[in-house]
Amino acid sequence: MTTKKSEPEITHEEDVDEKDVSRRGFITAAALSTAGLVAACSGGDQGDASAENADNEPAPAVPATGGGSDFDVVVIGGGMAGASAARETSKAGLTTLLLEARNRLGGRTYYAPFGDHNIELGANYLYWLQPHIWAEVTRYNLPIDDTPAAVNPDRWIYLKDGKAVEADIATFWPKVDKAMTDYCAMSREVFPRPYDTFHTDEWKKYQDLTIQDRIDQLDLEDDVRLNLNAIWSIMSHAPCKEGGFLEMLRWWANLGSNSIDFNNAVSRYRLSNGTISLINAMLDDSDAEVRLSSPVSRIAQNGTGVQITLEDGQTVTAKKVIVTSPLNTWVDVEFEPALSEVKLTTSRERHVGAGNKLHAKTKQDIGNVFLTADDGFGPMQYGYTETTGPGGTTLLSYGLDGAFDVNNLDVVQNMLRQFLPDVEVESTYGYQWLYDPFSKGTWSTLRPHQFKLVPELQRAEGDVHFASADIATMWRGWMDGGIEMGVSTGQVVARALVS
Ligand SMILES: Cc1cc2nc3c(=O)[nH]c(=O)nc-3n(C[C@H](O)[C@H](O)[C@H](O)COP(=O)(O)OP(=O)(O)OC[C@H]3O[C@@H](n4cnc5c(N)ncnc54)[C@H](O)[C@@H]3O)c2cc1C
Repeated sequence: MTTKKSEPEITHEEDVDEKDVSRRGFITAAALSTAGLVAACSGGDQGDASAENADNEPAPAVPATGGGSDFDVVVIGGGMAGASAARETSKAGLTTLLLEARNRLGGRTYYAPFGDHNIELGANYLYWLQPHIWAEVTRYNLPIDDTPAAVNPDRWIYLKDGKAVEADIATFWPKVDKAMTDYCAMSREVFPRPYDTFHTDEWKKYQDLTIQDRIDQLDLEDDVRLNLNAIWSIMSHAPCKEGGFLEMLRWWANLGSNSIDFNNAVSRYRLSNGTISLINAMLDDSDAEVRLSSPVSRIAQNGTGVQITLEDGQTVTAKKVIVTSPLNTWVDVEFEPALSEVKLTTSRERHVGAGNKLHAKTKQDIGNVFLTADDGFGPMQYGYTETTGPGGTTLLSYGLDGAFDVNNLDVVQNMLRQFLPDVEVESTYGYQWLYDPFSKGTWSTLRPHQFKLVPELQRAEGDVHFASADIATMWRGWMDGGIEMGVSTGQVVARALVS
């Protein structure tokens, strides 16, 4: 086994090869838009992990089929799904190549510098009721940070009719908690086995409901309704009339149907050394070759193998391909033969997750605050203190407007002043996931009619397999879902190719 320990690596923009970023000027712009900040390119040491690991790995099993392909398996995408899939196939003794479009690994996880510390521009939180990612925490002994401020605010301020209202947390939270519990009252009947969402047919009763439809079924005080809308809109990262009710019900069921575990899971525990530490651990634990800045434009299969073409015209062949690129981007790759109509249509329609996330540092210590607004207010539905002290407060904020200028200090300050009139913002940093052609959105929340399509979205087409967090079964839309799909699909492919 490799003994190498991965530290998160930050590569300065000027260190990155020009061709790495030429296709997407916006990535450079986004990375440079905050003074003094640079693009993070973690995993720059992973061009070829095989050379380092070759002497230490156990003898590989023997692939069942002979030569003829450049690699046994090509994995497309270097996020949680791709890294875990590549580890599985590589550890099964299959020659594995991971092709990543961007100049960094991590996908929708992105550990980057902000001032004197690092932040997560993408995924942040994980929890022990997420079985796949927690198994990796155990396997690689990854340290966890607790951010209790996020679930224990001292002040709760919400926007109502354009005005800031301060809630009495002691009396208001129990009402919101009850509303959330009522909203999800049927979770155990619908999802008695959260890892098998179609275990019973109960879901069919609710398959047409949006999140807003379900809120409208409840008899609620106006302010409670407003905040229920704020909470579910940010969990789905879309206006409540877009996301499917079953998607949020599934989260609740996954977490044992209670708000303590729910709140802990969505805003409390994270990897101390960043999400990249897990990506690095999985790839260090494999012989997979990793090529960055390698966007795939075409995947063609003829029954005896698969040819993958990169945007620059290079080709590589494999016995099997595992596609881990986001659902919203499948439509941008040419598949031969064409993808099933369901896959194509769903990719064109997209999942609904498309909002913003930003970190803002204030000059003053604004204390431990929780800020909410309903889905009629685009820039922010949900914001809270991460750290606070005499040197200022770091706020984490999520909103529905994916075009919101997360790196514009004045824009962010004006937004926050609607809640806290005197606040002065010192710096702000975010990433525009919606405009990145290799994500085209944030986390996956399916539309109501897309829920029943998941088995078809997961179905392999010939030698091309699909493994994205966006189509996972249990923790769809989460890092855990990426690993669920990467591990399970990697194992399916390994069983097919290894005797
Ligand atoms: C702002 C934000 C906050 C989030 N918060 C959380 C959270 O707190 N907790 C949590 O668990 N999850 C969170 N998520 C969701 C989580 O990040 C994702 O569900 C998960 O990381 C997706 O993993 P993946 O490997 O399936 O996809 P991705 O991470 O998107 O990886 C896919 C990879 O494929 C690459 N790719 C795309 N097209 C091509 C191509 N043509 N050729 C080659 N490569 C290609 C991409 O560059 C990318 O690296 C958040 C996401 C965002 C954006």
